Amino acid sequence: MQVPFLSFSPQHHPIREEVLAAMARVYDSQWYVLGQSVTDFEAAYATYNQVTQCVGVANGLDALHLSLIALNIGPGDEVIVPSNTYIATWLAVSFVGATPVPVEPSATTYNLDPDLIEAAITPRTKAIMPVHLYGQACEMTAIMGIARRHNLAVLEDNAQAQGAACDGGLTGSFGQANGTSFYPGKNLGALGDAGAITTNDAEVAKRLRTLRNYGSQKKYYNEVIGYNSRLDEMQAAVLSVKLPYLADWTRQRQMVAALYDEQLAGIGDLQLPSVAAGCTHVYHLYVVRTAQRDSLQQHLTDQSIGTLIHYPVPPHRQQAYADQPMASQQFPIAEELAATSLSLPMWPGMGQEEVQKVVAAIRSYFK
Ligand SMILES: *Cc1c(COP(=O)(O)O)cnc(C)c1O
Repeated sequence: MQVPFLSFSPQHHPIREEVLAAMARVYDSQWYVLGQSVTDFEAAYATYNQVTQCVGVANGLDALHLSLIALNIGPGDEVIVPSNTYIATWLAVSFVGATPVPVEPSATTYNLDPDLIEAAITPRTKAIMPVHLYGQACEMTAIMGIARRHNLAVLEDNAQAQGAACDGGLTGSFGQANGTSFYPGKNLGALGDAGAITTNDAEVAKRLRTLRNYGSQKKYYNEVIGYNSRLDEMQAAVLSVKLPYLADWTRQRQMVAALYDEQLAGIGDLQLPSVAAGCTHVYHLYVVRTAQRDSLQQHLTDQSIGTLIHYPVPPHRQQAYADQPMASQQFPIAEELAATSLSLPMWPGMGQEEVQKVVAAIRSYFK
């Protein structure tokens, strides 16, 4: 039996007709950009995320980028970002001409360590961008407290954690503007690129609606230098069909994680995911750590088990940032995570037999 890294089958097969019918309605409507499907999905997603506003955009990176613009963050400003995130978080900051200021994560939750944030704040700091990495909510109560004390904006990168919560509040509902991604493999995935911003600030939402559509509210009248970053009708229609299933899919991910937790405990030097008090984890990824990461990965590959590394190179070590000051700074936790992390197969509906095969292969490696 092969175990892929990710299979869409258990999610997509049961809703095939429902999704195709929604796509057919868009096809027949003869309206393909910024129509009823987008409006309906934005309303549904805002409700789901317990915010008043949702603005659909073309992808998660644009959601972060446009949010920074809408919050007036630009050249000369500094934005605190995790040292161990997907590059998109940093790129969004770089796009607006601001400087990403990396802060190390906790070595157990892999999320921004609130205790290290204040030391990174300077008179130029404008915002903190917590990333709910792998699906675990950041310690938002502490982070929001720091932001309030220093008068900073918070922009959550909620691409991996739709439906996670900290102290009862949903990720994507804490910050002034929060980006999420509906890239196909995300917990709520479109059938192509898509993203959104969630916010409780109607003024920020209005600015974002203008920015995503050529800086225009009224067709052919352009108020600001905007972008073309619209969520399209087809993707919005698909997302509206999938959204009601998300809570169920999340529970299924959590069941797979619980099986892994139980059966991988105490094996070799394996470090399993650890969830902070008051936070929940929706397991976009199930990431383990071991000093023998590369040879364990090879062992699993040899047994037809798919794994991935999130992420092999931390942003400050990427060639893209080679000429920036952080390239020469030390972020030992980020480097350690890049050297030791391995993402195991994880998807909603992953069968017990598949989990058993992964567990058995890992046990045989450490024997
Ligand atoms: C996927 C992802 C993004 C970017 O989303 P896209 O839709 O691929 O642009 C941003 N941040 C994180 C943490 C992500 O995982």
